[in-house]
Amino acid sequence: MEKTYEYANIIIDISHEKVDRPFQYRIPERLREKVDVGTPVEIPFGRGNTLRKGYVIELTDEPNWEPDKIKEIAAIREDAVSAEDISIRLAAWMKSHYGSTFSAALKTVLPANKKQTRQIHKFVSLRMNLREATEYYYECVRKKQKARERILKEILETPEERIPYELITSKLNVSAATLKSLSDQGIIRIEEEEYFRKPVAGDSSRYGAKVLSPEQQAIVSSFTGDYDEGKRDTYLIHGITGSGKTEVYIALIDEMIKRGKQAIVLIPEIALTYQTLMRFYRHFGDRVSVMNSSLSPGEKYDQMERARCGDIDIIIGPRSALFTPFPNTGIIIIDEEHESTYKSENAPKFHARETAIELAKLVPGGASVVLGSATPSLESYYRAKEGEYKLFELKRRLTGGTLPTVEIADLREELRSGNRSIFSRRLQQLMEDRLEKGQQAMLFINRRGLAGFVSCRSCGHVFKCPHCDVSLSEHRGGRLVCHYCGYEEPMRKICPKCQSKYVSSFRAGTQQIEDEVKKFWPQARVLRMDADTTRAKGSYDKILSSFANKEADVLVGTQMIVKGHDFPDVTLVGILAADMSLYASDYRASERTFQLLTQAAGRAGRGEMPGNVVVQTYQPEHYSVQTASKQDYEAFYEEEIAYRDLLRYPPVSHMMSVQIQSKDEEEGMQFSNRLRAMMEMQSSDIGKAIFIGPAAAAISKINDVYRMAVYVKMDDYEGLIAYKDMLEKYIKDQEALGKLRGITVQFDFDPVNGF
Ligand code: ADP
Ligand code: ZN
Ligand code: ZN
Repeated sequence: MEKTYEYANIIIDISHEKVDRPFQYRIPERLREKVDVGTPVEIPFGRGNTLRKGYVIELTDEPNWEPDKIKEIAAIREDAVSAEDISIRLAAWMKSHYGSTFSAALKTVLPANKKQTRQIHKFVSLRMNLREATEYYYECVRKKQKARERILKEILETPEERIPYELITSKLNVSAATLKSLSDQGIIRIEEEEYFRKPVAGDSSRYGAKVLSPEQQAIVSSFTGDYDEGKRDTYLIHGITGSGKTEVYIALIDEMIKRGKQAIVLIPEIALTYQTLMRFYRHFGDRVSVMNSSLSPGEKYDQMERARCGDIDIIIGPRSALFTPFPNTGIIIIDEEHESTYKSENAPKFHARETAIELAKLVPGGASVVLGSATPSLESYYRAKEGEYKLFELKRRLTGGTLPTVEIADLREELRSGNRSIFSRRLQQLMEDRLEKGQQAMLFINRRGLAGFVSCRSCGHVFKCPHCDVSLSEHRGGRLVCHYCGYEEPMRKICPKCQSKYVSSFRAGTQQIEDEVKKFWPQARVLRMDADTTRAKGSYDKILSSFANKEADVLVGTQMIVKGHDFPDVTLVGILAADMSLYASDYRASERTFQLLTQAAGRAGRGEMPGNVVVQTYQPEHYSVQTASKQDYEAFYEEEIAYRDLLRYPPVSHMMSVQIQSKDEEEGMQFSNRLRAMMEMQSSDIGKAIFIGPAAAAISKINDVYRMAVYVKMDDYEGLIAYKDMLEKYIKDQEALGKLRGITVQFDFDPVNGF
């Protein structure tokens, strides 16, 4: 029998501030077996003991004050399920499934704090006539007024439409001042509208609706057929970029709106481009809204309110948009479902895909989940093959355009024949050709981890941060910088270990590539996109739109450049060191490499002109390089799943990483060993598992805090939860006894991000 508790900590108002200040109540005998974390209850409150609604957030045997002054829970509420109930249940599931405190889980699912602002929609539209506006546009082009040029170009494309104001400021990166000045000059009109409710299923103007291809239609019919039969399921659409997935999402949402339902659409932040958002706005008008990190807390709150009261039917946004409180969610769509940003890096370390599937079960009437990707995660493809998800394939590119020709350049071979530059001979040849023809090229470097580290070529000494276990990177102006804590020191010319003067940086960062391109081809106009050049707000969109407007010939960048935007004039993609990510020390390295290479290669030849891709690598025979260059997902999957099976990695099995951080290395190690020993002792009860570690984490120290991990592998996820629950309880007891100074523990299930 389950253990029961005497007391329950209860919150009455569901809001961020209240989560940390619960009230304690006694659980009467008759309710003991029914009350759990997340249970909605009725409790006597205040002097008059009026009955109020509350939620249990914690169970305990420790009274907070004199036991005979603690009131009793009156009843368990059985009334209809509210949006709040759903949030609470989802938080309870997240706490149990991923490990964290209930209040951390609750804070994750609750929308942003309340900020009372008037709710206004602003729209921008054209005021002058088309001819005048076109003239003005060319004037801006002549005067090189880039921001004005960008906005006029967009408006002139759809002169009769109203464009949401925030889309222009955030995605087109046009300032409010510029908009105001355009409006003062009488060129555009800015309208403000206080929002008002509209009947559900209003006949939103069907701009840009396409006649679906038979393959697309088959997906929509199958989905709606299931839905109308009462089947709620998870669907995976495997289709290359340009195969029409987004169009299918739009058609599916249409069907759900017809049925009085709402839709949540998750798109990685980085792929939330103006073009993508406009497609939704064009189709659904102001029934759609967007959530992203550039919104203020007040704006975020407003979007949540609009969802709650039925002012919108569709929300688009990154991971956190999942927690939009629609009254009747019918479909949750996750585009680019393989993206690692769908996994939270903070406790609870939840995955948006699994959480969406759980949420779909909790909402009234149930919802269905649609996943889409050109390179599905091993998880999803495995589940689809096992029959757990329904699989659909979209194999044709609807935009026309041919798949690019991919060639592999063996860097060892290049060196042997005397080419010491970072560009293979084939890439040099093609670069020259494209620059001559006025076509664009993208040079992609996978810079995870290794970029710009500085070492001594004589003794091999690597310059590291004294507080973190990472190498320092060289920056302009002769500084060495730690990317984790910001520590800086001047670049040194002499090796502190062997006194040699052969100190140099590993020349493979984006900045170095930019410099090399300029050296090789002085006439080329180069743009660079990486963590450094995109730090300022809006700079990401600015670089992309400037490249799209052909203000540069070459775009050099990290993984950021391989997502989002379509560039029809890009006919060459160079992947400079394809295997860099293979050196990463986690079990997803090959998967990540395959995804990046496939995506990068897919950037070439989007338009009319055929494209070329050159993959430079030191491991030309590696299966992720081979299969990616053939764009053969199936072949990659077969190799990779065999490896996961052999070593019992997810998705074939499950894995829990117990992550320990300690100010003192020795104490941390002792404590980690104790955690492992405790789990082993329980394994006859809980079930056999494979234990690994404790071992130093991939980054073994950050800010002078030591990091280590114990890994547990087990086929049965519930078994892992049982181990976690046991450890959580032990840790809590140790904390209560004051024995855990300077040590914290977090859990990560089926980890995606390195630790
Ligand atoms: P994905 O989301 O898979 O990248 P999209 O839905 O964006 O694919 O479609 C790629 C391009 O093809 C877009 O320009 C879209 O407008 C167009 N397209 C999609 N479906 C159709 C269709 N049924 N008929 C004509 N064009 C289509
Ligand atoms: Zn040295
Ligand atoms: Zn540091």
